[in-house]
Amino acid sequence: MTIAVFPGSFDPITRGHLDLIQRASRLFDQLIVAVMVNTSKQALFTPAEKVAMIAAEVQDLPNVQVKAATGLTVDFMAAEQATVLVRGLRNEQDFGYERDIAWMNQSLNATIETVCLVARPPYAYFSSSLIKEIAKMGTDISTYVPTAVAIKLQQRLQRQG
Ligand code: ADP
Repeated sequence: MTIAVFPGSFDPITRGHLDLIQRASRLFDQLIVAVMVNTSKQALFTPAEKVAMIAAEVQDLPNVQVKAATGLTVDFMAAEQATVLVRGLRNEQDFGYERDIAWMNQSLNATIETVCLVARPPYAYFSSSLIKEIAKMGTDISTYVPTAVAIKLQQRLQRQG
């Protein structure tokens, strides 16, 4: 049985992330979406909020679980007996970034393979940070994130002023 992990910041989850989750769930026996807690990015949502938002969107996918994880992704994966690390590639910039992370993870734990799925055209330009930027201007973002996430994002940004 192959257990895969899709780690990320997911601040918040986008329709691009969800497309990747659906595709990866068809490739592997089990998929764990890992909300990574220790990232250098300043987050808008807490790990628990992100886990709840993602879990609500993947409830129709029986082999997908959502968990928060601290520390190194490879250590989380070893604890979960996962052997495949899934990431997404949107463009050349992602490629360089993901290749370096894959090399580092390979050197940390040689049993883990990174599998990168190429983002599909309708989603390839979506990023959580860009979506947050346009949401701040009051733009409707439901094209880019699930409706429930769009509502939570607008509420959070309004509260921040
Ligand atoms: P991180 O901070 O770990 O990069 P992100 O939440 O920004 O976390 O991204 C998690 C993963 O999802 C990355 O591999 C990223 O390339 C991928 N990704 C982000 N947006 C999309 C998208 N629109 N389509 C496919 N993959 C995506």
